[in-house]
Amino acid sequence: MIKDKTIALIAHDMRKADMIEWVRHNVETLYGNKLVCTGTTGSLVENTLKEYAEENNIREPFRITKMKSGPMGGDAQIAALVVVGKVHLCVFLIDDLSANPHEADIMMLLRQCRIHNIPVACNRHSADLMITSTLWSKDYKPTTPTYKKFERDKVS
Ligand code: PGA
Repeated sequence: MIKDKTIALIAHDMRKADMIEWVRHNVETLYGNKLVCTGTTGSLVENTLKEYAEENNIREPFRITKMKSGPMGGDAQIAALVVVGKVHLCVFLIDDLSANPHEADIMMLLRQCRIHNIPVACNRHSADLMITSTLWSKDYKPTTPTYKKFERDKVS
């Protein structure tokens, strides 16, 4: 079971309802982990979690960090966390039917997840599979990708 991890949640406007449903569906699994979200997604997720806490008499506050809104750099902030190893799973519900002003940042976040071997789910089915994976147990260590021909990282 996933526990004590940092899960990034980002949803484009047309996918926000999907994200809220997904959060509700997985709320018990999400408890015990930290969430980092882009601004608007984060506010919606926070309200959903508050409602859940009230309905279920839970006093413990949910650990959620809200970054800037996506178009204002929120995706870029989350990408920076991926680069330094502070995100373990990214659920990124992208609207593939609309143009986004921050396309470059979206691509950057996806690229950094690929580079750093961070699981990234772009639809709910993938997100459900990833969050319920048994590989979150302590025995499984994801590999650290090496880019043999790319030595620049060593200079620091
Ligand atoms: P938002 O950003 O959660 O602030 O709407 C999401 C995005 O557009 O990347």
